[in-house]
Amino acid sequence: MTARRIAIVGSGQTGLLAAHGLLRAGHAVTLYSDRSAEQWLHGSRPTGTAVRFELALAYERELGLAHWEAVAPRIEGLHLTFCPRPGNRLLTLLGQTAHPSQAIDLRLQSHRWMTDLAAAGGQVLVEKVDPARLDAIAAEHDLVLVAAGRGPLAELFPRNAQRSVYDQPRRKLAMILVVGADHTVPGSPFSPLKLNVFEQHGELFWAPYYHRDHGASWCVLIEAKAGGALDRFDGCKTGADAVAIAKQIVRELTPWDAAWSAHVELADPDGWLVGSVTPTVREPVGRLASGRVAMPIGDTAIALDPIGAQGANLGNKQARHVVAAVAAAPDAAFDAAWMTRTFETFWADHGAWTVGYNNGLLEPMSRAAQLVMISQYGSDGVSDSPKQRLANAVIENTADPRRFTPSIAAGPSGARKLVAELTGQSWQRHVLGGMLRIGSAQLQRLLGAGPARV
Ligand SMILES: Cc1cc2nc3c(=O)[nH]c(=O)nc-3n(C[C@H](O)[C@H](O)[C@H](O)COP(=O)(O)OP(=O)(O)OC[C@H]3O[C@@H](n4cnc5c(N)ncnc54)[C@H](O)[C@@H]3O)c2cc1C
Repeated sequence: MTARRIAIVGSGQTGLLAAHGLLRAGHAVTLYSDRSAEQWLHGSRPTGTAVRFELALAYERELGLAHWEAVAPRIEGLHLTFCPRPGNRLLTLLGQTAHPSQAIDLRLQSHRWMTDLAAAGGQVLVEKVDPARLDAIAAEHDLVLVAAGRGPLAELFPRNAQRSVYDQPRRKLAMILVVGADHTVPGSPFSPLKLNVFEQHGELFWAPYYHRDHGASWCVLIEAKAGGALDRFDGCKTGADAVAIAKQIVRELTPWDAAWSAHVELADPDGWLVGSVTPTVREPVGRLASGRVAMPIGDTAIALDPIGAQGANLGNKQARHVVAAVAAAPDAAFDAAWMTRTFETFWADHGAWTVGYNNGLLEPMSRAAQLVMISQYGSDGVSDSPKQRLANAVIENTADPRRFTPSIAAGPSGARKLVAELTGQSWQRHVLGGMLRIGSAQLQRLLGAGPARV
């Protein structure tokens, strides 16, 4: 096999995984980064939460990059509370995954993975690449991958209007790294990703997190609908401001979490973000002034709202896909046709399902999703019951949206079939049973006895 000269621009999740994969396959890899490993560790903000599920984590393990598996808090499932109005916990779900997930501080991770790359023989160059420089880099390499996130270099790749769906953000985001809340969570028998959904206002997540300095900690993510009760972070000047607002939100909208989270504090001065993401799918080929081409990967290719915890997972899957495509034909001309073929097979296998699943979460719950949520109501996270299998399927689909998204996308008939398949019983029995359990819990609430399940 000929060793090819491959350049990768960007030292985030996707660029570094692709770089390690290609280096291991015997290619001459040069990674261009706008910051050094040291600057990643001390002087950067984390670019996202990046909870990763088994399918994505497996690739990190395969490349020898799973350094934090033994120490990072395990995310064993999802504890979801759905409130049509604040104060009314209409639906809850406790679903476990077969394998734990994890979220590692991306500053620590990029620092370590850059250091590892240099130690393994990759070339790491610290410079901010612009389009003219990219053209010069393309002249010296057989293949150029751009993993520069959602920054200006992404504009080299035309937006695909049909696949992008939205042309504006659907949520306003605030992410805060905190310490001071226990990893044993009230109401959950396992260590969960906590999600509170407010139909009119947006979502409030708590993700177990491995912080650069503190280790086990939490990442709070607020997905606010503009103008709603979660939309309060515009004027934030410091992370401490953001923590104070988040605590106020918890007291007002999720009082059931107030005692558990009363003592949280900002984990470090850089450990917070506010902003938004316009979900965007780009064309797989960027043409440079000379006519040479480059290929986008990760957020540069497909940027997703973080609501479904998919971006970093999809980046890992795309890195693996591109590395496999190079391995399948190492002597290929890595031209526009190769880039298009490589992206289109990825789109068909993972991209389209992930984008469809993630965008669906930004919209009101579909009738099909409601059927599944109603049928699983009463899941407790531990029983070996039909309800529990449904609840587990909800979070397993987040780990790999190809699993059940097609059934939900098929509408209520697909959801009924899915309920019947997963429970081994008639869907009517489960939908009706779920409705009765929800009705009874609502009655208890109206009588002041609180929800039957938390
Ligand atoms: C608040 C929030 C929460 C999230 N939560 C999750 C989650 O739970 N699960 C999940 O899977 N995903 C999540 N995501 C998405 C996830 O963080 C991203 O999809 C992922 O980090 C993207 O990785 P990347 O390598 O493609 O890009 P980036 O992480 O953006 O890395 C690109 C890097 O390239 C470098 N760079 C940029 N421009 C240049 C240039 N011109 N020259 C040289 N270097 C350059 C910069 O250092 C930059 O950091 C979340 C995102 C946000 C915003």
